[in-house]
Amino acid sequence: MSRRADILVLHGHVFTTAGSGVGYLEDGAVAIAGDRIVDVGQSSQLAAEYEACKTLDATGKAVLPGLIDSHTHSPEALLRGVAQDVPDYMEKAMSPFVRAMTPELALAGTRLHVLEALKAGTTCFTDYCPPYAGWAEFYDQVGVRARLTPTINALAADTMADRTKILYEFDEKAGQHAIEAALEFADRWHRAADGRITVMLGPQAPDMLPVDQLMTVMEHAQKRDLMIHMHVAQGDREHRQMAHRYGMRSIPFLDSIGYLGEQLFAVHLTEATSSEVELMVSRGASMGLCSGAIGLIDGVVPPAAEYRRLGGRVGLGTDSASSNNSISMFNEMKLTALFNKIRHVDPRSMPAWEVFRMATAEGASAIGLADTVGTLEAGKQADVILVDLASLNLSPVLERPIRNIVPNMVYAATGREVHSVIVAGRVLMEGRRILTADEAAIRKEAQEAAEELCRSVLRDPRHAELALLEAMRAGLL
Ligand SMILES: [Zn+2]
Repeated sequence: MSRRADILVLHGHVFTTAGSGVGYLEDGAVAIAGDRIVDVGQSSQLAAEYEACKTLDATGKAVLPGLIDSHTHSPEALLRGVAQDVPDYMEKAMSPFVRAMTPELALAGTRLHVLEALKAGTTCFTDYCPPYAGWAEFYDQVGVRARLTPTINALAADTMADRTKILYEFDEKAGQHAIEAALEFADRWHRAADGRITVMLGPQAPDMLPVDQLMTVMEHAQKRDLMIHMHVAQGDREHRQMAHRYGMRSIPFLDSIGYLGEQLFAVHLTEATSSEVELMVSRGASMGLCSGAIGLIDGVVPPAAEYRRLGGRVGLGTDSASSNNSISMFNEMKLTALFNKIRHVDPRSMPAWEVFRMATAEGASAIGLADTVGTLEAGKQADVILVDLASLNLSPVLERPIRNIVPNMVYAATGREVHSVIVAGRVLMEGRRILTADEAAIRKEAQEAAEELCRSVLRDPRHAELALLEAMRAGLL
């Protein structure tokens, strides 16, 4: 007897990532009804069993769980390529642009970011920024999945630029206001859009708000069952603040105030020592790994291989176009594998299958969505991408007796091979055409917004000595 499906994906190289490997199915099929996957199996079996409203022929394509970007800052898409190759990324490169950012410009950045990533197969965005009008609404409109994190900090205006004081000055009122704004945002958006949009609480870093406000955020997180998404041990600057303020390093400090637990998704861990990694894993906290961004900003490879070896959960994140320039998760997978092989002088470190799982099943688990997405299994949300393997850079496609698809997707794909994207059972892109947003208009809007942002940065006399301008004068850009 025939069963009903809304979408039937047939004849693909299906990689479910269920279990502990990549879950390969030759001539595989996925049946979708409503927002869920209802069946995964052989094409012959599902084609006989299901009557579908829409059939997608995945011949010559890989069918994968949608990719999960576990940490990113979408408005910074406007800053692509203006913040590299400087010694102090935050102060010398980023801050002038961040100061000049307005809600309208931020939205133009988010729109560009989301479309770029969607075209490269990202279906879930763990986006982190000060909340502004239209942010969540855009995610709702485009139809992707989002785990939104409104930034909470208590930094006094411009305190990071004040070199006369060692410690940042806190503005407790600003911190309180940010906490209230985040809670209001959570009231409105947590589990909104049929559950596609959820919220995490985002104390920006352990050095960016006073301890009583860190505790307040944790109390609210526990009361509302929200995860905490936080930059942790992200470099010298934070290390100095923590040493001067508390006489402790970030991770032992967070442990002393009860922050290390399953509720914590800790991003970067650039400076984490082996014993700190052990402590984090033993407490059940997850790690966010942004290989491209930390490589470009700090020249460091964070200890993710150690984290995984101890049984910790690690998700991959692009961080932002301002830090790593590309927000394709394919790029992120390759950089993660490559950097770890170099760090450990061992080609077995971070094999292709492992980084592929970190962008799918393990990434979902790290951000608390293991029951919802990350694998192609009946009952999960239908977040599915089709990757065209017929491109020159992915050829030849070998299936039997030798198979080469996963290594090529990780080491050779760019993201431009993504053919179609489905999120929560809705086709958002087909044949590389985005169906839920106007790509040309969004690109034009981002171009104009970035030009406006640059003009307002240069109107501020504090920015006359921008590292970027020095490089231009020297004929290097
Ligand atoms: Zn970040």
